[in-house]
Amino acid sequence: MEIRRGIAVSPGVAMGPALVLGSEGFRVPKRMVQVDAVDSEVQRFRAALEESVQEILLHEQLAAARLGPHYGAIFAAHRELARDPKLSTEIERLIRERNFSPEFACSRVLRQHARTLQNLGDRYFAERANDLFDLEKRLLRHLLGEPREEPMQLNQPALLLAHNLTPSETANLDRRFVLGFSTEIGGKSSHTAILAGALGLPAVVGVGPFLANVAGGETVIIDGNDGLVIIDPDEETVARYRDADARQKSVAIRLKSLGPLKAETLDGVEIKLFGNIEFPSEVDHCVQCGAAGIGLYRTEFLYLDGGCEPTEQQHYEAYCRVARAFPGRPVVIRTLDLGAEKFPDSMQQVIEASPNPTLGLRSLRLTLQNLPMFKTQLRAILRAASQGDIRIMFPLVSTLLELRQAKWILADVSEDLQEEGIEHNPRIPVGMMVEVPSAAILADEFAREVDFFSIGTNDLIQYTLGVDRANPAVSHLYSSADPSVCRLIRQVVAAAERHRVSVSVCGQMSSDCLFTALLVGMGLRELSVSPNSILEVKQAVRSMTIAQAREIASRAEIFDVSRDLESYLRGELSRFSPELVH
Ligand code: PEP
Ligand code: MG
Repeated sequence: MEIRRGIAVSPGVAMGPALVLGSEGFRVPKRMVQVDAVDSEVQRFRAALEESVQEILLHEQLAAARLGPHYGAIFAAHRELARDPKLSTEIERLIRERNFSPEFACSRVLRQHARTLQNLGDRYFAERANDLFDLEKRLLRHLLGEPREEPMQLNQPALLLAHNLTPSETANLDRRFVLGFSTEIGGKSSHTAILAGALGLPAVVGVGPFLANVAGGETVIIDGNDGLVIIDPDEETVARYRDADARQKSVAIRLKSLGPLKAETLDGVEIKLFGNIEFPSEVDHCVQCGAAGIGLYRTEFLYLDGGCEPTEQQHYEAYCRVARAFPGRPVVIRTLDLGAEKFPDSMQQVIEASPNPTLGLRSLRLTLQNLPMFKTQLRAILRAASQGDIRIMFPLVSTLLELRQAKWILADVSEDLQEEGIEHNPRIPVGMMVEVPSAAILADEFAREVDFFSIGTNDLIQYTLGVDRANPAVSHLYSSADPSVCRLIRQVVAAAERHRVSVSVCGQMSSDCLFTALLVGMGLRELSVSPNSILEVKQAVRSMTIAQAREIASRAEIFDVSRDLESYLRGELSRFSPELVH
């Protein structure tokens, strides 16, 4: 038995056979080819090379059209590399003279060159090395098929172990067969982690290198409560986990009975609990838990899920489906938040080529540079808003000018719909995410121009502390309890109160019942939480008074390091709702 510790990102325990994906997602057979098969193997390599070139060309055209010629040029460089006769001659020579399989020959040649460049220790050459690795992956995909499709093609239950899963890969996991997953990299509030929660899959990320120690089919336990991956567990451990599972099920049954009850403090103050969703199908769960509406619909998964750009009608239907589940209740649709780690396959190279995608062209910045894409979505939102209490929210707003620009475009789109005689709601409430420190600092100014704020703590923590939310190497610095983050939240709540705009928190902080009293005590009366956490947060709300929450928030100001505040909050939670302390 081997126990590895990682970061717990989605609760629950899964036990079953492992499905292991290698760090590149490929298993390269070090196969020799028969002498008489050499010609056909060379042909196979040439065909794969040609397919790769055509694929790169397509991405080049797409990127140039969507994002401008500068981005198209990235693919042009890849295309040149693929066409480099020196590389293909070298590969063919290995197939012909040493009888290597095309897969092995490609890997060997491209990796050798890539490593030579990497060893030069220069950033420019390191990037060129990445281009070579990229070409290797592309060629292997054409030679071997789609190894990353494996998790989608499962036909029996398994635990997925991978070096990394992108948000779009996670969104496409087959829930019938994937019982849970664990990755070597990844951080606490990464989008992959959030998706694990949305899909209800126990998940542990940031485990570090461990795949080499697991064989496919070996029994593994993923403990998403304590952040453990247990490889080949002994009988005693299996029995312990079976007991814990039974206990957890009984707590879940008890929490379920809270569904129809209000999220009300002991002294009768209602805290509106909304759901955060990534997929329209999640609304049923939110309704069952008694959510007051949807406080955050992450619409980018319409892109990541299907692999191609959704039409206006597809957007519209998805939004109407969500609105129908909550008649007369608010549904906040956030416009596309693509970029950083969330991107469809067609944008992969463009985003990854950006030296720092988290600070680059993502989210509202990306949509403001892609007006046709943005306007398609805005039209659908405005149309759907005539069918229910739909509100619109812009993500990652960092300056007032950006916000104004987005609002102008919205007004433009509304005018177009008016002229076309299409039913829509021109007076849709407009809100913004407060998730960049600049927006929190200028909250008073922003509050004059929006109807509501939603505090996105996932990014706010990342940008305030300068800590990549998806990087396990710095995850010890990433904390909702950091005093700097708490202070910013207080400032935003105070500005919202001064300007009478509503304010909620929709980052993962609000889904963690450790922080419920603190947030309520800071003055928040609306929280938007992941569907799996609604009942726990409701239980926390129902076990405190407003006076207690205020007292906790006031004492919290004393702490100047996150660790002390967290342990104080844990102590308080175990006083008023011990069953919620994990
Ligand atoms: C956030 O940043 O807190 C947030 C809710 O947005 P996302 O997690 O989608 O970046
Ligand atoms: Mg965010």
